[in-house]
This record gives sequence, structure tokens and C-alpha cells, in this order.
Amino acid sequence: MAITNNRLTVDQYAENFSDIHPPFETKDAALTEANRCLFCYDAPCMKSCPTGIDVPKFIKQITTDNVKGSAHTIFVSNILGAGCSRVCPVEKLCEGACVYNFMEEAPIQIARLQRYSTEKAMELNWKLFERKPLNGKRVAIVGAGPAGLSCAHVLARAGVEVTIFEKESKGGGLMTYGIAAYKVTPAFCENEVNYILSIGGINVQYNQTLGKDFSLESLQQSYDAVYLGIGVGLARQLNIPGEQLTGVEDAITFIYNIRNNGFASVPVGDRVAVIGMGMTAIDAATQAKRLGAKKVTMVYRRTENEKPCTQEELDIALLDGCEVIWLAAPKEIIGEQNRVSKLVCSKMILGEPDASGRRAPVDTGETFTLEVDMVIKAAGQTPYYSLVNDAQLQHQDGKIKVDHGAITNIRGVFAGGDCVNGGKEVVDAVQAGKDGAAAILDYLNVS
Ligand code: SF4
Repeated sequence: MAITNNRLTVDQYAENFSDIHPPFETKDAALTEANRCLFCYDAPCMKSCPTGIDVPKFIKQITTDNVKGSAHTIFVSNILGAGCSRVCPVEKLCEGACVYNFMEEAPIQIARLQRYSTEKAMELNWKLFERKPLNGKRVAIVGAGPAGLSCAHVLARAGVEVTIFEKESKGGGLMTYGIAAYKVTPAFCENEVNYILSIGGINVQYNQTLGKDFSLESLQQSYDAVYLGIGVGLARQLNIPGEQLTGVEDAITFIYNIRNNGFASVPVGDRVAVIGMGMTAIDAATQAKRLGAKKVTMVYRRTENEKPCTQEELDIALLDGCEVIWLAAPKEIIGEQNRVSKLVCSKMILGEPDASGRRAPVDTGETFTLEVDMVIKAAGQTPYYSLVNDAQLQHQDGKIKVDHGAITNIRGVFAGGDCVNGGKEVVDAVQAGKDGAAAILDYLNVS
């Protein structure tokens, strides 16, 4: 058993990481699907979108071949509408709410239609928004992820000069660095960021880390307001023996390396165990398999009923050949010559509901052992405790506390997205950015 990179041919990598939800092949196919829409009054699809995209309106615009208008309808609510059309868990949002589900027919392919309009807008570089004249206000945003970009775009439209400080060398945050490459490619993310920034009035300073290259205080002194969209980036530790062995990696780093360094350069084991059952765990497991791992086993401490990922996500992993062991929690990682060789797991049962409302896993005292050469940890993320503490921001377990959706305890400092909610979907971060911009414009008395 070994952890190696470069396991597949160039063609195999290309095939394994090709687009999982391909676009409509023809305009007629898109029009046919758009014409299935019933354009419901009080549309449930729209209500279930965290950014409130007017779904029946943008689909109606497609039916009349007004693709530009359709793209505007989407982007005015969600400037990351192109990326969201690829990564949103639509089965539990808009498509899950579509009335066709109640008629036991396939829901409207809302995401695919959204992709149809937004990608055309990006491809043809349609200028869909005007900026108001500059009003002399300057805002600093920390983080060029979905929340930061969404906030920046609304502010720029209102005539505010925006500077974004981003710790990575590219924008996009989770979209660029944290999602399976068969959903969105790094090249697509780069195009999307460039399209958003093309409105002008947004200066991005890359490789700038809060707490290292600059402080919150310095931003407060130089700008009229500050928005924090710093995400949650630290992988939660398992705190079990053997976690330091070679071959133990966290899922965030694993996915980051795939996206940043290219498929062939990322080492993967023959027998991989993935701890967790959230979206990140699924993305790590499926990509480990697609990089050439022979066996991938997902280990989750509750049952399928409590899984945090959607059924569609789990189905992708199962179709990729990943195996799942329910009711099992990692207890110890054993190594040979400092390299992972075994994962010892505790067998669990479900007890009384915990604070999350789900039945809590309880250790039975029995164990079993998996032969593995790689362990990928996807047991959640922890907030940036020290950053928020150092900045004297009020928080709960590291999650920044806000009023009215965005206002922190420090005057002129606003926050939103994962650093506030602890980690939700990209589309939630986009809405948080809009809420943050609205609060900032109110604070600055800009209409
Ligand atoms: Fe169209 Fe379905 Fe939305 Fe109704 S619920 S407007 S049919 S997409």
C-alpha cells in the first residue's frame, strides 16, 4: 500500500473530473425546459432561494429569448449566480420546492437554466450594471470569497470605493479553493471573479492576511467602514492518538491542493478512509476515488437518517464506488514506520437527541479496524478564535455575533458569511454579503 501521485493518464484525469452537471447542449433544449415552467404565482422555488432570485421571471425571459434580461434578473439577486448554478444543493432549495415534485414529475431544471443565462453573460462579457458616481465613501472588505464579493458588488454599484484584502493569490474563497473540481473548475472560478470585478471600483489586494499583514484597527483608521467575510478555514481536529502520522490529512487541505496544484500532483492512498459525512467529506471521498484510490471508505458516527450531506451528494459518492460505514467513530490511528496503516473505529448506537436536535451517537465499547494508508479528516471546521478575540469582536464559540444580519459590536465593523454562521452554502454567503452591504450603506447614509 502506498500514497502516490500521478496515478492516472492525462485523459483519465480529464474524464474523472469532467463537468458533473453538463449544460444544455442546444438552445432548443433550454427553451423546451423553460417552457415547462408553470410560472407559479407566489412561486415556492423563489421563496426557497436564500438570495430570493425571481425564478419564474428569469425562466420566462429565457422563453422569449431575452437571455440578457434573464441574466440580469439572476445577477441582481445573486452576483455569483453562475457559480451557484453549479454548486447549490438545488435538490433541497429551488428544485426541491418546485411544484412539479407534488405532481410526481421531474422538477424544472432551474440550476441548468440559470447556468444557461449566466454563462452566456460571462462568455459575452455583458455589462449588466451601472455604477453610481463616486460618493467619496471608502470601504475595506476582508476576504474575496462569496460574501466579500457579493458585498463589494452592491457597494460598488452604489458609488462606494471598495478595497478587498484577500489572503490567497486568487479570489472566490470556498468556490475557488474548497469545492470538488468536477463541480466547478479553477478556471471557471477565475472567470467568475473577473466578471464580478469588471464592474470597476473594486480593488483587490491579494496575499494579504488579517492579523499578519494588516490589522482591523489599521482598516478602521483608513476606511469609512469594514466588512469581514473571513470564512471558517480551520479543520477540526479528531483529537485521537495517531493523528500526527504521515498519511493523515484534513479534507480542506486535500481539496485545496487538488484545486491549486492540479490533479496529477496530489498524492492519494490505495485505501483511504474519510471521516465525516458533510459536503466536504463527500467532495474529498469522491475526489480521492477519482484521483485513483482503489478503495475509499467513509466513516460516520450517526446513521444515514442524520447525515448532513444531501442524498444526491451521497449518491455521487456511492456511484463513484465509495463505501460507507454508518455508526462508527474514529478511535485511534495506528502507524508503521510513522505512516498510517490502520484506523481503529468505535461502534456507536444512537442515544437521546443532543443540542442539534439529532440523536447523539453513543460509544458501545466495541471496536473494529480498517486497513488504510490514508485518513482524510472532514469532521467540520472551527472558527478563527484568535482573530476574533484579538480584534475584540463579540462572538459565540468563535462565530462573530451580529445584529440585523451584519452589525458587530464594533462601530463601523460589519461581518457576514461563514465567519458568522459557522459554515453554510455559497448562496447563503452571497445573501450575507448583500445584507452586509445594505447595513453599511445605511451606516454611511448612502442611498
Ligand atoms: Fe416554475 Fe417550478 Fe418555480 Fe413553479 S415552482 S415557477 S413550475 S420552477
